[in-house]
Amino acid sequence: MEQGQNQEQVFCQSCSMPIQDAALLGTEQDGSKNSEYCMYCYEAGEFKQPDISLQEMTDLCTGFMVQEGMPEETARQMLAEQLPRLKRWNAS
Ligand SMILES: [Zn+2]
Repeated sequence: MEQGQNQEQVFCQSCSMPIQDAALLGTEQDGSKNSEYCMYCYEAGEFKQPDISLQEMTDLCTGFMVQEGMPEETARQMLAEQLPRLKRWNAS
């Protein structure tokens, strides 16, 4: 375990994926980087799946996390907690 949390961790505000590399950031129409969403969710100024629901996003991300070796139950629980707090789903 590393001490301290000085390094700012950026999470995609749509799918909660940690963005460790600027190359993973989504892009705006003019090609500049969007600092809140990942390239899988956001490209050229638009969401790649503009009509996806929170439930569908949870299913989608669960699939990715299971592929990464996480038990499905654990993945679902994490996402059910995290996703609703993200900017995209936190309708105000
Ligand atoms: Zn994303």
